[in-house]
Amino acid sequence: MGVRILVVEDEARLAALLRRGLSEEGYGVDLAGSGEEALEWVAVGEYDAIVLDVMLPGVDGFEVCRRLRRRRTPTPILLLTARDAVPDRVAGLDAGADDYLVKPFAFAELTARLRALARRPAGTVGAVLHVGDVRLDPAARRVWRGEAEVALPNKQFRILEYLMRHPGRVLTRAMIAEHVWDYDFPDMANVIDVHVRQLRQKLADPYPGRLIQTVRGAGYRFTPDP
Ligand code: CA
Repeated sequence: MGVRILVVEDEARLAALLRRGLSEEGYGVDLAGSGEEALEWVAVGEYDAIVLDVMLPGVDGFEVCRRLRRRRTPTPILLLTARDAVPDRVAGLDAGADDYLVKPFAFAELTARLRALARRPAGTVGAVLHVGDVRLDPAARRVWRGEAEVALPNKQFRILEYLMRHPGRVLTRAMIAEHVWDYDFPDMANVIDVHVRQLRQKLADPYPGRLIQTVRGAGYRFTPDP
């Protein structure tokens, strides 16, 4: 089955360019010209990734992210932002996006990011991971803390899976960047920290006695015995 991408962009010229370029790369592409339209498309279609412009008339890209995550739509989201500002990126990731790209961007950069996002995580077929009272089913893409199921966006799921596959071991932010994003870039540490903060909230992982421990100057460690 081909990889299907939903492109959400109100600027007709850029939208048409993206559709043509992505189609030539072999992707199936649908276009939405507004946030409302995007939410409708996602409700009825199955997408492997969503390319979502922040600046949209009406419901903007941040709000589209938030609504999709509230609906527990796990589809990876790549935000397109015109503003190269760290607060904007953090806002996007807080809203539930997995990655972002600053306009103007090279098309090759977009396809590289999409390949990383839309790829089925490697080694997802396999046994359910159990560490402490956290259970993670890689094949079904589900997580439980005790009896309660926890809904996680794609990147947070993959960070947790990576940490749980190496319990007790310190994983640096660079390792997490390479494993989960396949690349590293400036500010990546901030991005990872935002995801880990959200991951802790969702896992009800308060300080002290954290499951996911911050190892100062090193990285993160998943411990079964907080
Ligand atoms: Ca726009």
